[in-house]
Amino acid sequence: LAEQNRYRNEHGIKVVGRHVPPALQDFSELVARYNVKQTLVDTVARCGYTEPTPVQRQAVPCMMEDRQILACAPTGSGKTCAFLVPVLHSLGAPTGGPRALVLCPTRELAHQIYREALRLSEGTELRCSVVRNIKESKVKEREATIRRSDIVISTPNRLCYLLNRDSVNISLNKIRWLIIDEADKLFEGSPDETSAFRQQLEQIMEASASRARRMAMFSATHTPAVAKWCRHNMRGLINVTVGQRNA
Ligand code: ADP
Ligand code: MG
Repeated sequence: LAEQNRYRNEHGIKVVGRHVPPALQDFSELVARYNVKQTLVDTVARCGYTEPTPVQRQAVPCMMEDRQILACAPTGSGKTCAFLVPVLHSLGAPTGGPRALVLCPTRELAHQIYREALRLSEGTELRCSVVRNIKESKVKEREATIRRSDIVISTPNRLCYLLNRDSVNISLNKIRWLIIDEADKLFEGSPDETSAFRQQLEQIMEASASRARRMAMFSATHTPAVAKWCRHNMRGLINVTVGQRNA
């Protein structure tokens, strides 16, 4: 245990929570520890990711063990890969219908996450999609895309716009991972934006409520609003913080 703490300190990782899994030494360790397919580890290497970043070292094992986390780490520290690798591993092969949902504040971010998801899902059968512009004429097309995706990336706005259409039938009841990226931005907008977001999140959580559903939140800064929400809504929560608390 003391050794684990020393190792975390070396990498600037702080953890709060019960039974926190040991930090990762390297990506190849995932094969022996969690039975991760060698192809996924190879894909990570092909992306040029030779060593895990600090947030990846701690967030990946937590999610591999199905633990719900709030991870705070500075911008550019590799948070996208930190959640995509465990998500890709846990989904395995396609079973039809979305099983992972990634929410983020803007469509630009959604596209960035989508691009990373395409790179990391290479060599798997899993399908990723991003919820694009919703023109009236494209609603049915969007619905069909979501229904055949394993991983869906969207802003809460766009997803809820579709969910609220009578003509659209999208089921979220197979969601295993609900990821909220840039949670600080989503929780700390203007009062109007924030309350809209909280309502949308409530709707999405209700639609995806099952025993198997886990949540993970990622954020660049530590914000009390996010921390409080996580404490109240995520069982067995582990807080992972990298670098300064208010970096
Ligand atoms: P964040 O979401 O924390 O701001 P990103 O996920 O956007 O960071 O990653 C920032 C950059 O770091 C991206 O260009 C990504 O490809 C790269 N990156 C991610 N993980 C690693 C790694 N383990 N080694 C090297 N580069 C990485
Ligand atoms: Mg990011």
